[in-house]
Amino acid sequence: MTEMIDPFGRAVTYLRVSVTDRCDFRCVYCMSENMTFLPKAEILSLEELDRVCSAFVGLGVKKLRLTGGEPLVRRNIMSLFRNLSRHLESGALSELTVTTNGSQLSKYAHELADLGVKRVNVSLDTLDPHKFAAITRWGKLERVMAGLAAAKAAGLGVKINTVALKGVNDDEFDKLIAWCGDEGFDLTFIEVMPMGDIGGEDRVDQYLPLSVLRGRLQEKWTLEEIDYNTGGPARYSRVSETGGRIGFITPLTHNFCESCNRVRLTCTGTLYMCLGQEDAADLRAPLRASDDDGALVTAIHEAITRKPRGHDFIIDRDHNRPAVSRHMSVTGG
Ligand code: SAM
Ligand code: SF4
Repeated sequence: MTEMIDPFGRAVTYLRVSVTDRCDFRCVYCMSENMTFLPKAEILSLEELDRVCSAFVGLGVKKLRLTGGEPLVRRNIMSLFRNLSRHLESGALSELTVTTNGSQLSKYAHELADLGVKRVNVSLDTLDPHKFAAITRWGKLERVMAGLAAAKAAGLGVKINTVALKGVNDDEFDKLIAWCGDEGFDLTFIEVMPMGDIGGEDRVDQYLPLSVLRGRLQEKWTLEEIDYNTGGPARYSRVSETGGRIGFITPLTHNFCESCNRVRLTCTGTLYMCLGQEDAADLRAPLRASDDDGALVTAIHEAITRKPRGHDFIIDRDHNRPAVSRHMSVTGG
């Protein structure tokens, strides 16, 4: 086995896989209302996804996250989790996890836990049902709440991901912190990233720098810096009043690229070496060309030699264009 080390000496140990570009929500910062989705022939089958993921595990990936689009709306997705869980059993993989909007969690939480999934990330920007409907366009808060209850009952650790949206949910952050504290959920705030055309919305209007948010939260809460690290870009603090952890993902106000350990695969088998750059490698052609993984592994190694130093997202009045044209649902958050 040859490990994947990029040109900047960073070991690639984390693979995020967007298993579908489809979703049962249309969050305003993520998708436009009328999205055109990919034809089925372009999308890797669940067996192909298993093959690519397993090749990455063979090359030193320790942590695998399935995301989307909405991963749990892909038909028969549990068979992929089931197959991948063999790498947990063998010890090759230390974590298999999922990022979801929570709409299907009441159906799948127990099965996920049985298959060795320990933690799930659930995206939730508001606790207000009307606002939730406005942000997600198609979502129902009560279903997500039922999903969260099922996750808790199944013993899954839950982290809530909240996109900070100026003038939309910035009056609710204290409530979210208190609620997560009560429920025993971790909470991570994310800055809006300039990805993909989202229709009429203006990202300058949505953008709330987390440095501002943090300052505001510190007026009410005591945030102790802690050393907790999930291998991701979030920096965590403990909220003394609730005992809960909160994290801040700040791609715009604080560049987190130096410690980047990850690459991202789309559902068509395109590998992005950086969330914020266009350069990518096609893994579908070598995958489909042969039943043997030789060409696939060579293509992966070649791609890793092109992993860039970092991204250069900026949002201001002069840069109100997507930094990359693809939507977050393509590469998965
Ligand atoms: N559907 C799942 C969900 O919502 O969790 C998984 C995919 S979603 C693309 C992953 C994460 O990306 C979510 O937490 C979502 O809020 C976040 N996201 C989507 N578009 C974003 C953007 N433009 N800027 C920042 N975060 C974004
Ligand atoms: Fe769907 Fe997740 Fe994007 Fe919302 S953020 S539209 S739930 S993929």
